[in-house]
Amino acid sequence: MDTEKRPQMSCDTCRFREKAEKASASFLGKIWIWHTRFCPGWKRYVRTKWEHGEAAPPVGSLRGYWQNR
Ligand code: SF4
Repeated sequence: MDTEKRPQMSCDTCRFREKAEKASASFLGKIWIWHTRFCPGWKRYVRTKWEHGEAAPPVGSLRGYWQNR
């Protein structure tokens, strides 16, 4: 596990993600959640969070990380 501070990533401040977290059942929320199943940027984001020992994102695909959440 990487103990260095994780760099800021675009997913941290993504406005689309913010809207999806506030209203995951909305049309935009569903589209955003759907994109996390295949988006390489989101895949890199969750892997980096996991490698730094951070908590799982509240919504979106976990891409196989945080198995015991
Ligand atoms: S990968 Fe998804 S969550 Fe990350 S910045 Fe792009 S749209 Fe936003």
